[in-house]
Amino acid sequence: MNCTEVRALLAVYGDGELDLPRAVALEQHLAGCADCTALLREQNALRSAIRTHAPYHRAPEALRARLHAALPAATDSDAPVAQRARRPRSTATLRRWSGALAAALALAIGINLLYVAQRGDDALADEVVAGHVRSLQAAHLADVPSTDQHTVKPWFAGKLDFSPPVHDLADAGFVLTGGRLDYIDHRNVAALIYRHRQHVINLFVWPAGSDTDRGSSVKAREGYNLLHWTAEGDVWWAVSDLNAEELREFEQRLRQAGATPS
Ligand SMILES: [Zn+2]
Repeated sequence: MNCTEVRALLAVYGDGELDLPRAVALEQHLAGCADCTALLREQNALRSAIRTHAPYHRAPEALRARLHAALPAATDSDAPVAQRARRPRSTATLRRWSGALAAALALAIGINLLYVAQRGDDALADEVVAGHVRSLQAAHLADVPSTDQHTVKPWFAGKLDFSPPVHDLADAGFVLTGGRLDYIDHRNVAALIYRHRQHVINLFVWPAGSDTDRGSSVKAREGYNLLHWTAEGDVWWAVSDLNAEELREFEQRLRQAGATPS
């Protein structure tokens, strides 16, 4: 199989519905093709994301009943006898189709939710980059310039309706240099400024509204890397010209610090 053939069958394969000979041929190709393997991985990630995040909606009983009721009513009143005789089969067909329709609807809603979430993240990423650039341009990096978490954290009290977690990560080479108020996602948020070597990191934090932990995802925007995750009931966005790997290390350190009470 070549890449084109494999990609045409990837979805069927992912659903476990490919016949054995073709599945074997496909797997042989995957073993030697990093691109197709990456596509399969993406597809699996999307599938599990839908499974995890999209609510499943069963067609309501009332809708099912209405659909079933509608058919006999139409055929009983003015249909010829021959058509009425086919009624049982039509009802069975309708039942099958309403099941498929409900499944398609659920999938569409799932994809749509994922899309909305994705678009929301993209819009936020733009805001986060804008906040970062603003802070670098206007000599407005910090409202409270301090390397002491015990100075930075109380500074936010009374300015925000939540208390942002402020961690000292100097041991790991991420030096807290201050804090600032910013405005993202239609709300006041905490911006914490860290330095790693000569690089500035803006870390935006605000309450997530739920305790769901979400793994981080990396985006690249206008020459900056962004890392975004949800943990400890907060939304976290880190933005910097640091490379993605070091940003991930920053995230790991923050998560560790968050898990260890100071
Ligand atoms: Zn391939």
